[in-house]
Amino acid sequence: MARHLKCGRDAEARAEDDAKVRSTVEGILADIAARGDAAVRELSIRFDKWDRTDFRLTDAEIRDCLAQLSARDLDDIRFAQDQVRNFAEHQKAALRDIEVETLPGVVLGHKNIPVNSVGCYVPGGKYPLLASAHMSVLTAKVAGCKRIITCAPPFEGRPAPAIVAAQHMAGADVIYCLGGIQAVGAMALGTESIEPVDMLVGPGNAFVAEAKRQLYGRVGIDLFAGPTETMVIADDTVDGELCATDLLGQAEHGPNSPAVLLTNSEKLARETMAEVERLLTILPTAAIARKAWEDYGEVIVCDSEEEMVREADRIASEHVQVMTRDPEYFLANMTNYGALFLGPRTNVSYGDKVIGTNHTLPTKKAARYTGGLWVGKFMKTVTYQRVLTDEASAMIGEYCSRLCMLEGFAGHAEQANIRVRRYGGRNIPY
Ligand code: NAD
Repeated sequence: MARHLKCGRDAEARAEDDAKVRSTVEGILADIAARGDAAVRELSIRFDKWDRTDFRLTDAEIRDCLAQLSARDLDDIRFAQDQVRNFAEHQKAALRDIEVETLPGVVLGHKNIPVNSVGCYVPGGKYPLLASAHMSVLTAKVAGCKRIITCAPPFEGRPAPAIVAAQHMAGADVIYCLGGIQAVGAMALGTESIEPVDMLVGPGNAFVAEAKRQLYGRVGIDLFAGPTETMVIADDTVDGELCATDLLGQAEHGPNSPAVLLTNSEKLARETMAEVERLLTILPTAAIARKAWEDYGEVIVCDSEEEMVREADRIASEHVQVMTRDPEYFLANMTNYGALFLGPRTNVSYGDKVIGTNHTLPTKKAARYTGGLWVGKFMKTVTYQRVLTDEASAMIGEYCSRLCMLEGFAGHAEQANIRVRRYGGRNIPY
């Protein structure tokens, strides 16, 4: 049976954190809805010490951000964006419209229509997470969305040059320097200066993720993509240093980022825990990573690969790095995860920054019911139908009429009956 060598905070403490975030977000969204730009400005000063009358960056400001980056920086961003665009284009090609004749004279179809306007949030409180700009803005662009606006918070008191460059190079129509709940609230609800969007996308901290959740319905959202989570599934084919590096590489995202080791080797588990302690003495971001590891880190020892699959599916982690003798076993059998990283040659950081798969992925067990962001999330799959012959209309009409009456819908039944009379020349007795 699976045994914990190290546990994270208990479920009650985590639920308490969630409740606090929920009520903060509720209050702030109500304030934005009531007072628009004035509320947004006050909130930006309060949370980010960032005060502007207009949060939209001017062309000159965007040019200035680009000029602050080296040719190498810009090339690296371009390389990452090429990978993300390339994979997104392949995924888009796999999205097919269909039209089929399901019965003689009955034609049904579906087509994929991109959402018209989207608001892409790029996180930037603790780190300027420029990669999120490729993941949302660029993917929306490939999907064919017509209006793409994007927000990122100020970083160290000003727009983060690398984020702005990535937002611009990805093809954003309007770039705002605005963070947190006030950013997603303003994009979804609209203010005097920001026209509302149809859909919000992009990852963020617990406040951003909760704000998107509360705004769902008013606008569409991509998925619940909150604080990063990682899981390493490993056996004795790898060492503790590699496992510890991969756990801390994601724990550094924030103090509430879970990092879980799942292994069938107690020796590897103990070696990894010792390596985590060693690396925490040298990692420059150790302050954040240590808190995440202490509060949310877990080490679980299983008896078999089947049990590792069961535990991994129960936890439904955002990222799952598999470093075992046969990583393909996990690809074939796991059902709940945001993204899999198969074998020691790749890792979550490749996926986060550059390899081309999208890094906006489900957290807090949302992987039970959704995958991550991709072109398909920007599409509405809508249906249509045609009936080509009188015979088909009258035949379907008869079934329809009887089914409507089973439900007591006389008006619906008459919609069918009138067609049975007109196209079939017969009447349906009630
Ligand atoms: P962020 O941009 O998400 O949040 C910063 C904003 O939070 C600030 O602008 C501020 O307005 C607001 N804020 C901070 N404290 C607040 C408070 N007490 N009350 C109300 N608002 C407050 O940047 P971040 O904080 O660095 O977080 C980025 C997050 O994105 C991390 O948790 C990271 O793990 C996550 N992430 C998730 C994914 C995913 O796909 N799930 C991908 C990348 C990053």
